[in-house]
Amino acid sequence: MLPFARVTIIGLGLIGSSIARAVRAEMPSVRVTGHDADAQVRETARRIDLCDDITDTPGAAVIDADLVILCVPVGAIGTVAADFAGDLPTDAIVSDVGSCKAEVARALREALPNATLVPAHPVAGTEQSGPEAGFATLFHRRWCILTPLDDTPEPATRRVEAFWQRLGADVEVMTPDHHDRVLAITSHLPHLIAYTIVGTASDLEAVTQSEVIKYSAGGFRDFTRIAASDPTMWRDVFLTNREAVLEMLQRFSEDLTALQRAIRVGAGDQLFDHFTRTRAVRRSIVEQGQDDAAADFGRTHD
Ligand code: NAP
Repeated sequence: MLPFARVTIIGLGLIGSSIARAVRAEMPSVRVTGHDADAQVRETARRIDLCDDITDTPGAAVIDADLVILCVPVGAIGTVAADFAGDLPTDAIVSDVGSCKAEVARALREALPNATLVPAHPVAGTEQSGPEAGFATLFHRRWCILTPLDDTPEPATRRVEAFWQRLGADVEVMTPDHHDRVLAITSHLPHLIAYTIVGTASDLEAVTQSEVIKYSAGGFRDFTRIAASDPTMWRDVFLTNREAVLEMLQRFSEDLTALQRAIRVGAGDQLFDHFTRTRAVRRSIVEQGQDDAAADFGRTHD
């Protein structure tokens, strides 16, 4: 049995459009309604036939939904929820895909005091944005983390879990605070480091821009993929998950200083041991199916 019959997606970018495509692929009888604040995005979504219906207002989008998923930047979630609050059916479940959960839970509860909330975060994505960047298999074998509130009824969480499993995801349930600390180290800090290193390299006066690009295969280009991620989304992530990111950043700075010292004093064994440990982490990620074993991210070298 299908967990939901009428799904509404608000925000038709990479994640929203991927959900729309995945629902159509995996649950074709489910009616999918979409809305985006951007008229151009709505036009594109209509042109590529992304949903059964695209509405011009968030209220019209939710009016007969049994699941509403907010796929907008985390800083906009509370405002969008307030916009459709008066039109939300009382038995609808509201979820989202935001990359931070504690602040999102607070904003959703404030905007929708009586709604059933099951916040979620599919840990899947690319550096691209917009309705044409999405694809139906984005969530296959990726984790989707659900962070129900204290007052969320268990059956509601189970229905959202079944929904994500139908889209090919593996589901884990945790508290919003725990989610935010885990993602601060596995996602938010790596993005911050990539944004920093790419900015620093392009600012270096001793090395010209063209050399940075010409010799990027030395490692730099792998950071540029992450640093090309959507600026609005990532500004909101850092402002919203501030405490956890700052805590992990402090820890990271201490470890970086230790490596800096090892280089300065010529502690080769320390560096070798550290790099051996990190190599094993990569092996575990591949073994758990979270990345391809192909060398150099599967790039062809002919
Ligand atoms: P995206 O491609 O930029 O799409 C977001 C869409 O939401 C845009 O079309 C945007 O319109 C629209 N929007 C912004 N404010 C809105 C509002 N108030 N009402 C309705 N629509 C609005 O971004 P995305 O990558 O799909 O990210 C969406 C959410 O998924 C974010 O919360 C992000 O944290 C989360 N997430 C992203 C990834 C990832 O890798 N990208 C992974 C997991 C979760 P404009 O054209 O006006 O910007």
